[in-house]
Amino acid sequence: MSAIVPYRMLIAGEWIEAEGGRRLESLDPANGAAWASFPAASAADVDRAVRAAHQAMTEGPWARTTATERGKALYRLADLLASRADELAKVETRDTGKLIRETRSQIRYVADYFRYFAGAADKLEGATLPIDKPDLFVMTVREPIGVVAAVIPWNSQLLLAAVKIGPALAAGNAVVLKASEHAPTPLLEFGKLCLEAGIPPGVVNVVTGLGDPCGKALTTHPLVARISFTGGAETARHIVRNSAENFAVVTLELGGKSPILVFDDADPESAANGIVAGNFGASGQSCVAGTRVFVQSGIFDEVMGRVAERAKRIRIGDPLDDASEMGPLATRGQLDHVERAVAASLTEGATLLNGGCRPAALSKGWYYEPTILACPQGGVTASREELFGPVLSAFRFTDEAAAIRAANDTEYGLAAGLFTRDGSRSLRVMRQLRAGIVWINTYRAVSPIAPFGGYKSSGFGREAGQESLLDYTRTKTVWINSSTAPVGDPFVMR
Ligand code: NAD
Repeated sequence: MSAIVPYRMLIAGEWIEAEGGRRLESLDPANGAAWASFPAASAADVDRAVRAAHQAMTEGPWARTTATERGKALYRLADLLASRADELAKVETRDTGKLIRETRSQIRYVADYFRYFAGAADKLEGATLPIDKPDLFVMTVREPIGVVAAVIPWNSQLLLAAVKIGPALAAGNAVVLKASEHAPTPLLEFGKLCLEAGIPPGVVNVVTGLGDPCGKALTTHPLVARISFTGGAETARHIVRNSAENFAVVTLELGGKSPILVFDDADPESAANGIVAGNFGASGQSCVAGTRVFVQSGIFDEVMGRVAERAKRIRIGDPLDDASEMGPLATRGQLDHVERAVAASLTEGATLLNGGCRPAALSKGWYYEPTILACPQGGVTASREELFGPVLSAFRFTDEAAAIRAANDTEYGLAAGLFTRDGSRSLRVMRQLRAGIVWINTYRAVSPIAPFGGYKSSGFGREAGQESLLDYTRTKTVWINSSTAPVGDPFVMR
């Protein structure tokens, strides 16, 4: 049995234990055994981290850096990430069960997110205003917003950290990252790279521990000015309530129950591959998973037949093995949740086209077969709840308007997919889908240049792209009197 790796958290450039030495363990989803331990931060630990961040961005060297220097620091961080992608990927795979081939390529791409924000750092500009008063000159100055609390779930951690830390640092802020209690180690490794890149101590702090007290203490802290949260809708409700304590500006990237619509004129192979990628990539543990699949009657059997055939051939296995195509779920709780939802859906009238159980050959670890449910109109538990597992619910439709209504019939609105070779239909349907992202004849593509975020219970605010950068600044309006005449007595009417 291998020794448990002890991690510490990063506060003010130091690697420290939690107050009282309290620790938690991180489990390896491939076998369920503890492989790392990490500090369980108290409210007092979080207070130290927030104060360190505040000090770093108001009095430390970071407060005096130029935008160009901040951009260079982010470029150095990007290069380090790219050069260490293999090592970091192993840690993330061990901690989350996500396939090594997925973590490796995602981390390499995360470097490009930092490069995007590095390049944007010195392009944040204010304005001069054509003001309606003679002699007055008015300009706006963009300033860093303040200490940023970045609260992260366990999936795609470095990517989710990049879309928060990239714009936050480009704009001159300091950050306290709250890593997930299920898999915090990739962000602790990332903290080492921040120091190595020459980002001054205190500018990036990484705290670990439970949602309450650690996350709660962070998001209610009076010195936090901005909360960027990614996670589930229930936790988001706590976050919004927490922000009533400090009036921090909040953005929320939450879950989804995204639809994929396939019309009779679609290319069946592309549609089937899009559905497979949207549901079984990352073992379905993706906020943009396209878990409600609506296929028009004329093409239903062909498309779903292809999806089921590919699902049967997916190689499930050790996530550290490059040959594996699907790994385990990240937590035991996730696996139980998925099992319960599938069982309930079968009693509610769904039929299994594939999967529906754990793979017999993999008794250790939290594996689940790629599962396809053909669902009755009106849906079942699995087609309503976000499962965060490899389970898709398929529906047959005939009429375009009815399919759009069904696609929009969810509390969520993160993403939607659409497969058709009819250009006008693609635009017509896209306009009616209530989702922050619509993929047409593709699925699951992301880029640092393209805004990402949802409608409805999928949250608010956008990450990546230019508008996300402005969310980490605030505007100061400066009024200058250019007249040589003295300022008049305000009580003498002229
Ligand atoms: P979660 O909501 O349980 O936890 C997210 C983070 O919030 C964790 O770090 C947790 O410790 C912290 N937290 C919990 N309680 C808190 C509190 N009271 N105050 C402050 N922080 C608290 O989410 P999870 O289960 O780790 O992740 C899965 C969820 O994340 C899914 O719903 C998924 O869709 C969503 N997600 C969304 C996106 C997106 O970009 N839209 C991306 C990835 C994941």
